[in-house]
Amino acid sequence: MSQQLQSRRLRQPIVVVLGHVDHGKTTLLDKIRGTAVVKKEPGEMTQEVGASFVPTSVIEKIAEPLKKTFPIKLEIPGLLFIDTPGHELFSNLRRRGGSVADIAILVVDIVEGFQKQTYESLEILRSRKVPFLVAANKIDRIPGWKPIDTYSLLESIKSQRKDVQTQLDNYVYRLVGQLAELGFNADRFDRIRDFTKTVAIVPVSAKTGEGIAELLALLAGLTQNYMKTKLRFAEGPAKGVILEVKELQGLGYTIDVIIYDGILKKNDTIIIGGLNGPIVTKVRSILVPKPLQDIKVVKTDLTQIDEVYAAAGVKIYAPELENALAGSPLFVAENEQQVEEYKKIIQEEIASVKYYNANIAGIVVKADSLGSLEAIVEGLKQKNIPIRLADIGPITKKDITEAELTLQEAKEYGIIAAFRVKPLQGIEIPNSIKLIYSEIIYQLIDDIEKYITEVRESEKRRTLDSLILPGKFRLIPGYVFRRSDPVIVGVEVLGGIIRPKFPVMKKDGKRVGEILQIQDNKKSVDRATKGMEVAVSIKGNIMVGRQIDEGEILYTDVPKEDLEILLTKYKDIITDDMKEVIKEIINIKRVNDPTYALGLKV
Ligand code: GDP
Repeated sequence: MSQQLQSRRLRQPIVVVLGHVDHGKTTLLDKIRGTAVVKKEPGEMTQEVGASFVPTSVIEKIAEPLKKTFPIKLEIPGLLFIDTPGHELFSNLRRRGGSVADIAILVVDIVEGFQKQTYESLEILRSRKVPFLVAANKIDRIPGWKPIDTYSLLESIKSQRKDVQTQLDNYVYRLVGQLAELGFNADRFDRIRDFTKTVAIVPVSAKTGEGIAELLALLAGLTQNYMKTKLRFAEGPAKGVILEVKELQGLGYTIDVIIYDGILKKNDTIIIGGLNGPIVTKVRSILVPKPLQDIKVVKTDLTQIDEVYAAAGVKIYAPELENALAGSPLFVAENEQQVEEYKKIIQEEIASVKYYNANIAGIVVKADSLGSLEAIVEGLKQKNIPIRLADIGPITKKDITEAELTLQEAKEYGIIAAFRVKPLQGIEIPNSIKLIYSEIIYQLIDDIEKYITEVRESEKRRTLDSLILPGKFRLIPGYVFRRSDPVIVGVEVLGGIIRPKFPVMKKDGKRVGEILQIQDNKKSVDRATKGMEVAVSIKGNIMVGRQIDEGEILYTDVPKEDLEILLTKYKDIITDDMKEVIKEIINIKRVNDPTYALGLKV
């Protein structure tokens, strides 16, 4: 073993795949895994849980045609790919403000270009400070592209028609442009001088395999050249992160862990995060899939091993794992003092993600793992959505109480957002609270946003609907249809708005009655605005020719409170003509009430 250790000065970099749905993440991973299985020598592959190892020998074989272009001697033992692509698992690969992933492949459909989740992936990579390269996938879909039987893009390009090569470049430069807009310098990988300053774009086809050689060579070359310190292998006790917690039939609860540093041994004491605080337990078994001869064999048959070296993906069986938290760190402690130290670190880390503030009228967020909760909270913060409570685990009575308290203050935030968690048995969510559930982080955030907007809009409509708004109109001479009880006249709206039920006053402030109905071309309408000529019926103890005259100008009689709400909450609906009407109404009302609209800005 010591010999093996000496030759393993650097550990294998951990690689994740992110990108928009259907852009080919799964296909790409399958292609890489499949190729590795075909190219390996017996005994070269290690078996992993939740990840796939591609040894250096395989990378070198695949990249053979590139020897002249990329003369790198690989010192890393290979690459460890996380099997499940996308945000959800990536968020559990957390490590103190960063990520356990050393590098990411951002998959973009070269024809479709950047899409919603491409942007979201970039955002999450940026916030976790993970370097990445872009796999511009599906080059075989470029019109005229003739797939060549090679893993090398540069080899394939040589046999493509000139116009197809130009088309490929056009697509690549569109991606360069989209990345530039986000502040990233990018270029096709073979035109890059300084990889520390420029994001590499590798055109690939996950379907035909073209470009896989360059992709693997770059992943290996970049990590090895620029991350030596991070990849240096420590021979000490293991450090890792819990990817998933799973119940195995006949065995009980297990955790799938990515070990990113050190050595994990059977019987090691581990400290991990739990639903109710740190868990200290002893590793009963380290499980990996049985070596497989064929990629098609499903990785379900497990076998025990005594120890494992970083980087690796393994399943751990130990007592007391039922409350283990995905996304939590895992540490091996060698003595009591370390146990206490790590307990404290884990406690602090959990506390840094959870959140509660009884003074905030905000939403309640519940998630199944530390990583997903962290990603959701980050996403909500970016959208300025206030949070009252953010926690891990099923929905409880307390969550409902908190959401109800929020509801009293801000209706739009009366939400319980649930990510892959359900209410505890027997808990019913009241109708007044909106339960938003999703298994996709960004879907959840989108749905929350949508709901908040909807409630706001409807609240606004409701209150606006009940407000008496400023309006000014003139009785058109010669258009008196009925002189009294009720008065029916033709009017021209001079400014603002008039609606049924609005009280009406004269220029001297005297109330004349209330609008009953408005008709436009014999059809009943619920409003009339500046410039419109409509028929209006007014209920009141008045008669045209006595209290009011043809040609007279009337105003809506806007109560003080309504004007105040309008000027503070709905400023955006005030048109220029309404503004003038408001000023005139204020002058009329001030005669009898000097405090009318006092201190308000028009
Ligand atoms: P994911 O959602 O990002 O994991 O995307 P998938 O890997 O499931 O791929 C989505 C679809 O695109 C599937 O029908 C794939 O067969 C197809 N696809 C993926 N890669 C390629 C490619 O390189 N070329 C072509 N023509 N189709 C591809």
